[in-house]
Amino acid sequence: MEDVYERLRQKLDSMTKGYPKTEKGSELAFLKKVFTEEDAEIFITFKRGLQTPEQAAEDMGMSVEDAKEKLESMSNRGLMYWERDGLEKKYRIVPFIHGIWEFNVDSIDQEDAINMGQYYAEAYGKVLMDYHIPIARVVPVRADTVKDGKLLPDDDIEAIIKKQKLIVASDCACRKVATFAKRHCPCTDEMNVCIAFGLMAEYLLETKIANPRVITIEQALEILHHDESAGLFVQMAHAKDCSGFCNCSKCHCGFLMAAKIHHGTGYESWGNYKCAKDEESCMDCGKCVERCPVKAMTVNTDEKTVFNKEYCVGCGLCVTTCPTDSLILERKPDDQLTLPQEEKFFDNQDLMGLEKAQIDKARLAAAKA
Ligand code: SF4
Ligand code: SF4
Repeated sequence: MEDVYERLRQKLDSMTKGYPKTEKGSELAFLKKVFTEEDAEIFITFKRGLQTPEQAAEDMGMSVEDAKEKLESMSNRGLMYWERDGLEKKYRIVPFIHGIWEFNVDSIDQEDAINMGQYYAEAYGKVLMDYHIPIARVVPVRADTVKDGKLLPDDDIEAIIKKQKLIVASDCACRKVATFAKRHCPCTDEMNVCIAFGLMAEYLLETKIANPRVITIEQALEILHHDESAGLFVQMAHAKDCSGFCNCSKCHCGFLMAAKIHHGTGYESWGNYKCAKDEESCMDCGKCVERCPVKAMTVNTDEKTVFNKEYCVGCGLCVTTCPTDSLILERKPDDQLTLPQEEKFFDNQDLMGLEKAQIDKARLAAAKA
């Protein structure tokens, strides 16, 4: 039988956007660090979706008491996720991203950061940008950056924050990685800014994963607007019942890193808006070039600002700093919108896994034809 960690990789490869194999096997290092062999066997055996301890015990071939103990242990180490259903907990396995990597932010060290950077460049970055369903959506923070002053209800992060009963801020894995980078990074110090809502917040708080702290609605809004001013852009968890959002920077964001490695291969579809530029009023000050996280704004050899619309993810950062009001966001046509299909974040991630399987099958058939 194949090595348990290779089988674990295969299981992760069937989830969300995958976890591809590389020649060097660099993708196995972090798995070996955080999973014991027994954890890996349990993870491999676990079925898709939320499972009661009784269902899991049957599949794992152990008593319910033993299963509960193991599932709790794995949850407390960020290898499993749970949600409360009344008094009972239900458990589920989570993908590598978003999941294992973020829930193990405390364990990430310099070697992991370097290793993951190489894995991104070699294989992982491509699959994160491949396939259609996004893990997160880029959304503008301010409705007044959009032409008609309206955000789609699912994209209105400020309104969503105001409805929350429990909000938790936790440490960001991307920023943890950036602390090991040698380049200067102006926002590295702001580590505890991943925002979780509701059930996800409850899980992080109770397991003490990623240094969680409860914050108020006002504090969450303050972080949101402070970070927008500082040049960070928002990515919301892709689910109807949004489980949280990240304040991402162009020097830290792992998705952006993947997009840069595989430039123009999918990231622009992770948002529902596109910028429009009024060339006549633009005075080529270059502020939008500094703010843009994706090189949608560049400077040409004549020192003129050029808008490369195909790369724009619609974050709105350029709009709020343009001194001549030359920029505005426009909502994409209805048939190009990317909206979540499932209520819960990990259910949407499961859909991605199914989408990936179908696309991979079609690609294989096309390659054989
Ligand atoms: S910030 Fe506005 S004025 Fe300045 S270069 Fe960009 S579009 Fe032109
Ligand atoms: S041009 Fe750049 S900064 Fe402006 S909305 Fe698009 S991605 Fe954001």
